[in-house]
Amino acid sequence: MYVLSFLVVVNLVIPINMPKIGEEEVQAVIETISKGPLTNALGQGPKVLEFEKKYAKFAGVKHAVAVNNGTAALNAALLAVGVKQGDEVIVPSFTFIATAEAVAFAGAKIVFADINPETYTLSPEDVDKAVTNKTRAILPVDLFGYSADIKPLREIAEKYGLALLEDAAQAHGATYQSKPAGFFSDAACWSLYASKNITTGEGGVITTNDDKINENLRLIRNHGEKEKYTSVLIGNNYRMPEIEASIGIIQLSKLSSFVAKRRENAQQLTSILQRSKRLKLPTETEANQHSWYLYTVKLLDGTENERNFILKELKQKEIGAEAYYVNPINTMEFYRNNYNSRKLPETEKAAKQVFSLPIHPNVTNKQIEYIGKTLLALL
Ligand SMILES: *Cc1c(COP(=O)(O)O)cnc(C)c1O
Repeated sequence: MYVLSFLVVVNLVIPINMPKIGEEEVQAVIETISKGPLTNALGQGPKVLEFEKKYAKFAGVKHAVAVNNGTAALNAALLAVGVKQGDEVIVPSFTFIATAEAVAFAGAKIVFADINPETYTLSPEDVDKAVTNKTRAILPVDLFGYSADIKPLREIAEKYGLALLEDAAQAHGATYQSKPAGFFSDAACWSLYASKNITTGEGGVITTNDDKINENLRLIRNHGEKEKYTSVLIGNNYRMPEIEASIGIIQLSKLSSFVAKRRENAQQLTSILQRSKRLKLPTETEANQHSWYLYTVKLLDGTENERNFILKELKQKEIGAEAYYVNPINTMEFYRNNYNSRKLPETEKAAKQVFSLPIHPNVTNKQIEYIGKTLLALL
């Protein structure tokens, strides 16, 4: 089995995330590749349509539109709500590059807002300050798998007449006010990249309750074509292949068991790490459940060097701990040169102090104990 051989070959390193692929996915791929079709000219083959139907049900909304990756999902959603050149879109800087990049690709201006240091997600107070008469949309991120604080963001969006999108790439299985992540946004963008809670290798989905956004998304996914050779708006080739959709159908059916194992691992790790006074640990509530995509801790009053030293030591002990987003996007060359960023003190701090530990479903309870005890000893 792929999972076991991977662990053995790399000599028991515990990677930060890895796909969990079983015999069912292998069979689904064999069936699709043998029988076809491999794709559909409008991006709506039988496996894609089945996957979309199941995904919409999982997300608790009317529509799901499958695309070929999460970045395409973000770009399509921005275009589908009418973001265009001259508009401004408010995004966090403490996130994966795709969140901001998709805004730039839609031709709009990126405006960065700061984060809440407790959850690392977009601060509604700072978003409110960043709004101008050119703002067209807000794009929060459910970072590390914990939903952004959507309700106050929704209020801001309504106050100024803005679209509220959501980067839910890391949030499969998360809830906000007891609803699936993405539920309260105009459209939510998901990734099915190999590191995510479920995967199709590469893949993405946009979910929405809005019929017009759904219609636009389906056009944008396929060159703006309503029918062959009749483009009504600018689109792209964002179609998901049938093989990927057939993997997605199986992975989606396993998601709740994957998240349950992630939660079990997270709870066990918390029970060990809470003995240290130096760490701020991730939490969840009954209504706002974590997807446990990443178990991210903050080294309280720690310096960047100290954090990096801990990471190096953990890696030497074969624990694949990682610091994500060490360079906030506003500090990266292209973004620094093209966008005059607002001050983001909490973003700067988090980028130096946080790091993530492996809790994915392939990590055993014994390994969690090893990770927890090794980290405690280092502190
Ligand atoms: C993974 C990810 C994306 C991009 O998804 P891809 O499928 O890799 O294009 C976007 N935003 C966030 C927060 C992500 O973690």
